[in-house]
Amino acid sequence: MSRRCSVTHEMVQAMTWKQARTEATTLMTGLPPLPRPWRIEDLCAALAERRGRPLLLHELDLAALPFGLWYFDGERDHVISRAGTTGYHRDHIVLHEICHMLAGHNTGPATADGDDMAARVIAAAVASPHTNAQEELAEAFATMVLKQARKRPPGGEFEQRASAVFGAA
Ligand SMILES: [Zn+2]
Repeated sequence: MSRRCSVTHEMVQAMTWKQARTEATTLMTGLPPLPRPWRIEDLCAALAERRGRPLLLHELDLAALPFGLWYFDGERDHVISRAGTTGYHRDHIVLHEICHMLAGHNTGPATADGDDMAARVIAAAVASPHTNAQEELAEAFATMVLKQARKRPPGGEFEQRASAVFGAA
């Protein structure tokens, strides 16, 4: 048996998370100073100004999609979160999508006929599926930004999953 076989799945995953955190730290340097008091809308406004590109937040009932989505329509960035999510959970979703935006995980504008946002959103999701590494980076980014903003998960199911992954590190 070679040495490599003794590397467990958990160890590989831990290394991946470490790399995700390192990349997320680099991406966080592209953010404006975090607003105090914390408001995700204020961060988005400052980020849009810094990038010189409008950034619009939307809520949409996304039965077909997991939590959120980012797309660029050629002029403006759109971040969509699932309608009904609030507080830490919504902030986490928005930051996750902002990470995809800053990292350029989607290329090219979403194309769909007409101005129907739901159609554009679905077209964008289908056109640019993310890799596991990209998802891990986005999760790390969102968790780290909220930690820096001193926002704590309220202890719901989603937040417990995130904190279980990142532990106290
Ligand atoms: Zn994602």
